[in-house]
Amino acid sequence: MKYYSTNRQVPEVSYEEAIFNGLPDDNGLYMPETIPTLPADFFENIGDMKLHDIAYEVASRFIGEEIPEKELRRIVEETLSFDLPIVEVEKGIYSLELYHGPTCAFKDVGARFLARCLSYFSAKEGKKSTILVATSGDTGAAVGSGFYGVENIEVIILYPKGKISKIQEQQLTTFGKNIQACEVRGTFDDCQKMVKDAFLNKELKEKYNLTSANSINMARLIPQSFYYFWTYAMLKDMGDLVVSVPSGNFGNLTAGLLGQKMGLPIKQFIASTNVNDIVPSYLTSGQFEPRPSTSTISNAMDVGNPSNFYRMKEVFGSSWEDMKEGVKGYAYDDKITAETVADIYRKTDYLMDPHGAVGYLGLKEYMKDHPNSIGVFLETAHPAKFGDVVEPIIKQEVEMPERLAEFARRTKVSTEIDATQEELKKVLETL
Ligand SMILES: *Cc1c(COP(=O)(O)O)cnc(C)c1O
Repeated sequence: MKYYSTNRQVPEVSYEEAIFNGLPDDNGLYMPETIPTLPADFFENIGDMKLHDIAYEVASRFIGEEIPEKELRRIVEETLSFDLPIVEVEKGIYSLELYHGPTCAFKDVGARFLARCLSYFSAKEGKKSTILVATSGDTGAAVGSGFYGVENIEVIILYPKGKISKIQEQQLTTFGKNIQACEVRGTFDDCQKMVKDAFLNKELKEKYNLTSANSINMARLIPQSFYYFWTYAMLKDMGDLVVSVPSGNFGNLTAGLLGQKMGLPIKQFIASTNVNDIVPSYLTSGQFEPRPSTSTISNAMDVGNPSNFYRMKEVFGSSWEDMKEGVKGYAYDDKITAETVADIYRKTDYLMDPHGAVGYLGLKEYMKDHPNSIGVFLETAHPAKFGDVVEPIIKQEVEMPERLAEFARRTKVSTEIDATQEELKKVLETL
């Protein structure tokens, strides 16, 4: 499979080049030259297939011969080394729990797959690389965990000072070994821009063999489509499936749309956001207007310029009309999000994190007019990850999974820097 840039100013590349480059030189995003399709019998038999076999079939269509079957099966198995439970919250409404991985958020899936693909190619070619990643919270932890101890790879995590939760900070500043954390005096958008600028700087990029682990990397996106197939496999006999995706940078939603293009019968996708409603506004007005992000209680979705928007556009052939049919968009403020966490917990005993609650809200809104559908929202993080937000809402302590508690006990190590290229260079020089 070849990958092209959405800006179309550079030649197509292999999967290996696409994931090492991260970002094409023309500042676009990589997309597969054709979106592969899966045969009808795959969907007929999917209900009897194991998760790892489903995931392998999907992955192999995107990667082709570049990773041999045996290795790709191993990568998929190691990536999905935890469960993906689908829990009925109320009648016809299901939560797809994506937080059972090592750092308790869905980003484990993409990060683990990317780390293993890069490590496979690095070992094959004997080269060293540096992963540069900006995080609004969960990516950094997932990437740190996914790459921890991986040979020939150094990781630098940039996060906005004071804008992520305590436990998120503990997670991404306490790995040690090949994982370094930088606390940036700025916003997530500043961090993301620093990464983008570093990649556009040819000298830096080549000197340190910079690679991105952000959701812009194709190897993050591909495995995120696995769980949409899994959801279909589990629920396909129940009715028309509607899936609501709490979104920030829109990687997760894009992965779902790719799955749908591959033939996956999901009836409707819903883009649910907090007040950073750039995409829902676009769906209403046809105008894509990025703006500085606003801080919310669903902070992993505080994104003012969602990069995967351009991939979504490709999926819909740049047609606004088609996108607004294919994706319904809804946005919610912190007040209603918090009320929903409390309300659903009280009524059903099911505790959502603020991101999942935004997804739930969008799903419910759509289902008012489509009551016979089967609704699924993505529960993207464990509520304990956002304990400082969730505990005051439910006026109760949230029990922490042991793997999170372990992070909380470690000592933070991070370098505080300004949001400039110069400061980032200094950090790179210490490698
Ligand atoms: C990153 C993240 C999101 C947003 O995912 P995107 O793919 O960027 O849209 C939602 N919820 C949680 C908990 C996250 O960490």
